[in-house]
Amino acid sequence: MHLYGTQQVNSQGHLTIGGVDTLTLAQQYGTPLFVYDVALIRERAQGFVNTFKKLGVTAQVAYASKAFSSIAMYQLAAQEGMSIDVVSGGELYTALQAGVVPSTIHFHGNNKSLAELEMAFEAKIGCIVVDNFYEIETLKQLAKNRQQQMAILLRVTPGVEAHTHDFITTGQADSKFGFDLNNGQADEAFLQTYQDEYLQLLGMHCHIGSQIFDTVAFGVAGEKLVDKMAKWKETYQFTCRVLNLGGGFGIRYTEEDKPLAPQVYVEDMIKVVQKKVNEVKLTMPEIWIEPGRSLVGDAGTSLYTIGSHKTVPNVREYIAVDGGMSDNIRPALYDAKYEAVIANKADQAATETYTVAGKLCESGDKLIEDAQLQQAEAGDILAMFCTGAYGYAMASNYNRVARPAVVFVEDGQHQLVIARETYDHIIANDKALTLKKG
Ligand code: PLP
Repeated sequence: MHLYGTQQVNSQGHLTIGGVDTLTLAQQYGTPLFVYDVALIRERAQGFVNTFKKLGVTAQVAYASKAFSSIAMYQLAAQEGMSIDVVSGGELYTALQAGVVPSTIHFHGNNKSLAELEMAFEAKIGCIVVDNFYEIETLKQLAKNRQQQMAILLRVTPGVEAHTHDFITTGQADSKFGFDLNNGQADEAFLQTYQDEYLQLLGMHCHIGSQIFDTVAFGVAGEKLVDKMAKWKETYQFTCRVLNLGGGFGIRYTEEDKPLAPQVYVEDMIKVVQKKVNEVKLTMPEIWIEPGRSLVGDAGTSLYTIGSHKTVPNVREYIAVDGGMSDNIRPALYDAKYEAVIANKADQAATETYTVAGKLCESGDKLIEDAQLQQAEAGDILAMFCTGAYGYAMASNYNRVARPAVVFVEDGQHQLVIARETYDHIIANDKALTLKKG
């Protein structure tokens, strides 16, 4: 069994996180429950932030809050000296409610509404990452009407797509996001913005993939963007102050995943970018990155109560838990793999093979196929590891299931940060039928 962060097995054979018995958490807050190891989040954040400091590179580490957005999470990110990346009015609203300093917020998205952009201007956020020509037009108009400055980055697709250990480079990226760096779109976006009276072009952004375990692709993308910066400098005497290389740093879900430490990603990235910058005789830009999963993914553990058990003779043993695709859609959506342990039997050998099913009305609602687990009985608590990113964030009310509670643990303390939804929350927006029959 692989333990993450502060996880341990105590003398009772129970899994603990942050010095807190997961059985106590399950009892006090109920299940399904998301438990976040705050010390691990801080460690990862410091890994990124302090490496830039050590290297003397001006940087912003922006937490990609799509991975897990909540008021307490934004406050934790801010405590650790991170900026915040939001992708919707809802995330922006939550960040502002959390008291995040607006100038540290970056706003992403390929179809931001006018209302969302107005909200960003109103709050005076730090930067809008511009995705397409329609947005340039909308922003120019909005900034002019409001007579308000706004810093922007151009999101470009460099034709580098990274997947775990591999990456491909293509002349053109088939992506719904950003301006193509290779076919003239990025140059056109530059020409439309760099002299604007109100939009202040800071530089470029790219995001090349997720679950990346190698640093080479970041370097290749960085070099391509620096080349473009050099061209704009030479042709238009324009200096890009910021190079944002996005997120995508991988984590361990199963033993097949071999992640690198934050320090390694940053050091390798800086080495390549600095070399390229020297080569083309530019000054080193500020480097911004946007880790999401690598900050919160393996810091999150889902606790479920095991209920029914079904044997399909000679085929499979199912155990079912009290959550499923409504709190973790990733197995159904991406065939994502996870590991788990029976939290109250964590000191026992994992002798059984079970398929862990959810409780939702979909045959595909399986959380783990062929999990190696301790002997399971109804009432046991299943701890599923590494559910902190894109789990709660993608949760739904399918089957009118209430979304779970979320708890932060650190140094023996625990705190509810998102309350469990109730049936009243579920019907809160419903209206009774007023149409008359016939
Ligand atoms: N930045 C951008 C633009 C993204 O689209 C994403 C993820 O989709 C991220 C950052 C965060 O990626 P990850 O959670 O893999 O670090």
